[in-house]
Amino acid sequence: MAKHKTHYEDCDVLVVGGGMAGTGATFEARHWGRDMKIICVEKANIDRSGAVAQGLYAINCYMGMQWGENQPEDHVRYARNDLMGMVREDLGYDMARHVDSTVHMFDEWGLPMMKNEKTGRYLREGKWQIMIHGESYKPIVAEAAKKSADKIYNRIMITHLLMDEAQESRVGGAVGFNMRTGDFHVFRSKTVIVAAGGASHIFKPRAVGEGMGRTWYAPWSNGSAYALPIAVGAKMTQMENRIVLCRFKDGYGPVGAYFLHLKTYTQNANGENYEKKWYDQTKELVGEYIDHHPTPTCLRNHAFIQETIAGGGPIHMVTTEAFQDPHLETVGWENFLGMTVGQAVVWASQNIDPKYTNPELTTSEPYVMGSHATCSGAWVSGPEDLSPPEYFWGYNRMLTIDGLFGAGDTVGGSAHKFSSGSFTEGRLAAKAAVKYIEDQKAEGIKITDKQCEDFKTAIFKPLETYQVAQNEITGGTVSPSYISPIQGLQRLQRIMDEYVGGIATNYMTNGNMLKRGLELLAWLEEDLEKVGAEDLHQLMRAWELKHRALTSQCVTEHTMFREETRWPGYYYRGDHMKLDDDNWHCLTVSKRDPKTGKFSLEKVPVYHIVDANEKKKAS
Ligand SMILES: Cc1cc2nc3c(=O)[nH]c(=O)nc-3n(C[C@H](O)[C@H](O)[C@H](O)COP(=O)(O)OP(=O)(O)OC[C@H]3O[C@@H](n4cnc5c(N)ncnc54)[C@H](O)[C@@H]3O)c2cc1C
Repeated sequence: MAKHKTHYEDCDVLVVGGGMAGTGATFEARHWGRDMKIICVEKANIDRSGAVAQGLYAINCYMGMQWGENQPEDHVRYARNDLMGMVREDLGYDMARHVDSTVHMFDEWGLPMMKNEKTGRYLREGKWQIMIHGESYKPIVAEAAKKSADKIYNRIMITHLLMDEAQESRVGGAVGFNMRTGDFHVFRSKTVIVAAGGASHIFKPRAVGEGMGRTWYAPWSNGSAYALPIAVGAKMTQMENRIVLCRFKDGYGPVGAYFLHLKTYTQNANGENYEKKWYDQTKELVGEYIDHHPTPTCLRNHAFIQETIAGGGPIHMVTTEAFQDPHLETVGWENFLGMTVGQAVVWASQNIDPKYTNPELTTSEPYVMGSHATCSGAWVSGPEDLSPPEYFWGYNRMLTIDGLFGAGDTVGGSAHKFSSGSFTEGRLAAKAAVKYIEDQKAEGIKITDKQCEDFKTAIFKPLETYQVAQNEITGGTVSPSYISPIQGLQRLQRIMDEYVGGIATNYMTNGNMLKRGLELLAWLEEDLEKVGAEDLHQLMRAWELKHRALTSQCVTEHTMFREETRWPGYYYRGDHMKLDDDNWHCLTVSKRDPKTGKFSLEKVPVYHIVDANEKKKAS
């Protein structure tokens, strides 16, 4: 252990992850905490990290309140509808009422925004989206964070949260290691804001073998945002609500601008509008939800999946009409060049010119995240002026661990935040974290050297394991006494894929499969004690895997608990195929006991705050 130097840093606000939410949190913490010490720790480099690393072509969440375009209530209705009723409306409203101010700052900071030439307003792609030239989106927000923080640590992966030893259930910082130097870093902090993104690669991806790593969601988003709080016993919500995306095949290029701006549409292999065909069948499953406008994302996926199972594939996006217009053709290509260059490359490699050939679509493997059209994540307190008592315990966006805050993909129950909403939520969390410190809630935190040393031993154990076990390698990477991170990852992905509703089963699972999945996950957890890492990069892979495995356990427990199919098209409970509002119009909340590793789950009421009276009358 002596070869891994230990560094200590004491601070007031520690931001874990410098993506959209993390940069927002770092920026805002400085605004409210002028004299406070603010540190941001990032696994990659904040200039190009997180889901927005490559850039974006649209900001997907902007109300346009200054022009009377939308109000926060409208956004709550929209997210509620898309998530089949299951959202935390207090959190959604709170984000929506502040998000415009965030976007206006992006504009001031130099993010090139497209303007509507006639009205002078931001150019709308859809009701909520505005179009940007966003290749430099991430460096721009990173600059704001860099100017605000006392220090940004790049290339440090946070592996564990430190817990106060003087007061139960209070955070005291975090530890991790530098992936370039191998040094051990201890951050003792009064508050921690977890903003470490969502989880890709827990389900087996469609692209395997030489295509591995090509997924819709960033492959480096490894579920730390969930594993860190789950490990210390924080409550989680809606972890069953994984997301499946309908995207251009193989390159996962986004379809938003195509549908909304280019007005392209989909059809099956026979040129038919297949969505209509599945209307009656879907109504059988979910009742009147299929009549809602816009059609919830999962239900559109459902029609796609059913049509493919019925042999109507491949499904195509009809681009050949829109692309005859040179302006729309340019927009179609630029859309990829600004955010998913890989899709253009895939089309080139497959001789697809969308002006003449309608490209194929696919449904992705499932991902777990809290900021897109999905709302898995931590169970947090809402703002005091909006939240009902069950949703409020003192500080906005504070988890059920004192001093531990979350934002962006970390926070559950609040879908459709996207990049701007995640940055906004980071700001909200930071403001509350500063208030928590000012209210003297973080006094007397005790972190012993033993706690830190124990984590240090645990963190570097995979290097030790490999050093000893490599002597027993029988060929290639086969060894009786250790498993490599990639072997463990592929085992995890198969378990999740085959038992928890991945692509292998067309997103189908049931109680028996989930039970078996949990059994296999428990054995995997045991074997991960023997994960070996031959270098620092593999050490990062080992810890990413451990975080993914813990996240997966939580996802599986939640999927087992909710005995209904609330979101057909995201996943199906074959033993409970229908949406069941009588029993399951509620949020699911879990807690893992850090001592025993056992999860307990409960139902929590979903409060409809917007249109409360109409909703009451209807039920
Ligand atoms: C493919 C895709 C397309 C999207 N398109 C759009 C769009 O067009 N418009 C739009 O507005 N939004 C879009 N979004 C949504 C937007 O990107 C997310 O809502 C937003 O990035 C979430 O912010 P976040 O901070 O929670 O996560 P991220 O921005 O992903 O940041 C998480 C950060 O945490 C770091 N991290 C992870 N683990 C650790 C660890 N253990 N220790 C330290 N650091 C860690 C990561 O490196 C990363 O920098 C898209 C998302 C995806 C995945």
